[in-house]
Amino acid sequence: MTSIAWIGLGNMGSRMSSHLVSAGHDVRGYDVVDALRAAAADHGVHAVGSIAEAVEGAEVVILSLPKGEHVRSVLADPDGVFDHAAPGTLILDTSTVDIETSRWSHGEAGSRGFRFVDSPISGGTQGAEAGTLTFMLGGDEADVADAREVVLPMAGNVMVVGEATHGIAAKLVNNMMLGISILGMSEGAQLAQQLGLDAKAFFDVARVSSGDSWALRTWYPVPGVVPGAAANHNFDASFSAMLCHKDITLAVAGAEAAGVRVPAATLIRDQLQRLLDDGLGGKDCTLVVRETSPDGTVAGWDGR
Ligand code: NAD
Repeated sequence: MTSIAWIGLGNMGSRMSSHLVSAGHDVRGYDVVDALRAAAADHGVHAVGSIAEAVEGAEVVILSLPKGEHVRSVLADPDGVFDHAAPGTLILDTSTVDIETSRWSHGEAGSRGFRFVDSPISGGTQGAEAGTLTFMLGGDEADVADAREVVLPMAGNVMVVGEATHGIAAKLVNNMMLGISILGMSEGAQLAQQLGLDAKAFFDVARVSSGDSWALRTWYPVPGVVPGAAANHNFDASFSAMLCHKDITLAVAGAEAAGVRVPAATLIRDQLQRLLDDGLGGKDCTLVVRETSPDGTVAGWDGR
């Protein structure tokens, strides 16, 4: 049994931490939202009222927070993790953050005698619920090996990607590619439709041809073609436009810092931004197919 502190009990953290409880670990959880602490207590997490209480005596601290600014504050603010955790504690950040925050976290943690592994995830709330997330780990080899053991109860795949920040870099690059895939799929699906093709007939062609992609097979944005697609249920989110926009924005920032030109990523980011501007950030990211529509209507979407 390992003593684990969990900070951030939202959509992902609540589900992920319950797998650690089931695996027999002692998990102390903290979130700024009272109701989320209460809900976590219902599935066996010892809910506590501060970061200090959560990390006291913990061998491992796991973060599941919205953005880089939250990670920096939870780690380094007075009464944060750095002030209260024991030196040598292994800190895993499963949040999706900018590469600069991850680099800062490694540096600040290391200089204080902590061990830090960037540990972003993919698989969404369904993967968190099922314990089948993909973890992408970056850090010192020995720390990553320990982190691997910790995340196994929550994981379908654990990828040891490389050194510090390589986990989060892999996550952001992958999601940037997904966004660009969605862009291609949306334009293709809309053009096929406007040229009079039957959606399923065209999908069957693309599926076995060079237009194939994971996005196409999983999220084809026309109702009645792919069973799990958001298009079948009014584009309610499986991966929201807001989260997709966040990830691609972070990837574009990483590209700019690295001097890499990413015009396609910039385009899909801006299309997602328009959904956000129209109050549709909670809808599925595949609703960007709206951007291709001649009259703004989308098959399977009620317009709200
Ligand atoms: P969420 O907003 O539901 O959960 C984050 C939680 O952090 C919230 O409950 C919030 O109250 C809490 N929090 C914020 N500041 C805090 C603080 N100072 N102290 C304690 N708790 C604090 O978000 P989520 O969907 O659970 O995602 C968490 C992270 O995982 C994000 O970085 C997200 O990008 C990433 N992620 C999400 C998904 C997904 O499908 N939801 C998939 C992969 C990765």
